[in-house]
Amino acid sequence: MCKPTVISRKGDICVTQCVNCKIVNIWNRGVLISFSFEQFHAFIGATNGLEFDDYLEYSPDGVEVVILATPYPDLSLAFTRVEWYEFFAALNEAAYMQQIYQLVHF
Ligand SMILES: [Zn+2]
Repeated sequence: MCKPTVISRKGDICVTQCVNCKIVNIWNRGVLISFSFEQFHAFIGATNGLEFDDYLEYSPDGVEVVILATPYPDLSLAFTRVEWYEFFAALNEAAYMQQIYQLVHF
């Protein structure tokens, strides 16, 4: 049975997990990204330390954005500077909270 728990929230980002399904969901406005626990940690590892300014592009509206590939083919995420920091703050907090919950659950 699904028991999603909110493990992190920053700006528009909300991260939940279900310890039964071992799934992490990242809610970002209209986008919902689902990772297995392993995928989630791999994604954090792969994106750890990326600097917004190193990957700067411009959206069609002329806004500074960074495009991030996802593990899913043909699906990329576009972040403004504020969204970028909120996203990774939320992910890192989520990873930290997972460790805390593991201590509680085992
Ligand atoms: Zn579940």
